[in-house]
Amino acid sequence: METHDVIIVGGGPAGAACARALKQEGVDVLILEKDKLPRYKCCSGVLFGQTQELLREYFGADAPPEVYCSNDKIVEAENIREWKKETGYKRFYWEIPKDGKAFSMHYQNIWRNLFDHWLVKMSGATCRDEARVKGFTASSDGVTVQVDGPGASEYHCKYLVGADGGPSVVRRILKAAAGDTGPAGASVSIFQSYFKLESLGTLKKAAWTVFFEPEIGEMLSCVHQKDDYLLLCVGGFKGRKLRESVESFKQLLANEFGVKLGAWWRDEGCQMELAPPYLGQGRTILTGEAAGYVYLNGEGISAAIDSGYRCGKAVVQALRSGGDAIQIFREKSADIDKHLEKCLAQIHFLSV
Ligand SMILES: Cc1cc2nc3c(=O)[nH]c(=O)nc-3n(C[C@H](O)[C@H](O)[C@H](O)COP(=O)(O)OP(=O)(O)OC[C@H]3O[C@@H](n4cnc5c(N)ncnc54)[C@H](O)[C@@H]3O)c2cc1C
Repeated sequence: METHDVIIVGGGPAGAACARALKQEGVDVLILEKDKLPRYKCCSGVLFGQTQELLREYFGADAPPEVYCSNDKIVEAENIREWKKETGYKRFYWEIPKDGKAFSMHYQNIWRNLFDHWLVKMSGATCRDEARVKGFTASSDGVTVQVDGPGASEYHCKYLVGADGGPSVVRRILKAAAGDTGPAGASVSIFQSYFKLESLGTLKKAAWTVFFEPEIGEMLSCVHQKDDYLLLCVGGFKGRKLRESVESFKQLLANEFGVKLGAWWRDEGCQMELAPPYLGQGRTILTGEAAGYVYLNGEGISAAIDSGYRCGKAVVQALRSGGDAIQIFREKSADIDKHLEKCLAQIHFLSV
């Protein structure tokens, strides 16, 4: 059986940042990623100010030119606006200051598949893709992991890190073992479609427009340009038919702004759970969105990178001192918890 000090489930921003922190300290770490890299991720693909700072701090670099959209590389914060038929536009604040510190308001418009792949490479860790973790068994000295895919089917590690995103298998298995099988909190479904852009009509270029139209979705709907495509994002609670929401959204954009859309390119969808953080159990630790670290409304890459990196440092400390990795991680991430609560209190993202 292949063995490593640490195995990370998921090659997203949290997994890559965790791997980076471990590699910096010389720890033997392997990332297992279920999809072939570079993989798509349901996301608007905007790097907010805090993300940009975290990249410099933890990865020693800015996102490279090849991960940017080739047009409209920057979305200025002042061009993120909420629109209502009766009142027109007003500024919409996606990112808020953390611990009294404000961030750059020049947001970077990137392709998530390319950005995430770059991050994994920057981590310096080996990443085995097409390796889907389907189960694990934990004991006092480590964790045995079962994997589907063309490579090895079983691995052993001293610590397992679940960085497998919102629908985390690692979290589900941990919760089930603890007798907890229900959803941790309210769950919102998100769906987005890309269409070839023929005309923006009166929608502003290099902008991001947000709508709160209950007939389209219970969550905010938004639209912005990615190269030659217009990206329409809608969200709702259980039972909402989100494909129909996209059709209503297209109608609104055509009627109110004269937007002309061409051929459909692709759809993406996911679930987001609005639950308090849960950091795991014993030698199995959760980080990033798997742990509940996502700043509303979906400003998640910062929370993923920041929590992932600190999780990695906590595991290093536990490996060296024999302490409780989860307790160390909890102490290291107290300010992230505080910022989550602040976002929850200050940002409104529901239309109902
Ligand atoms: C519609 C939408 C738009 C968003 N827009 C933005 C934005 O513009 N900016 C921003 O900062 N945030 C945005 N977010 C939030 C952001 O996408 C997430 O918070 C962030 O990706 C979380 O990172 P992560 O590493 O925790 O998880 P993920 O990025 O989800 O990565 C998890 C990885 O684990 C892998 N995985 C899952 N299960 C397994 C398994 N069993 N075995 C192996 N691998 C597995 C997945 O394939 C994936 O690669 C958006 C979210 C949504 C839904």
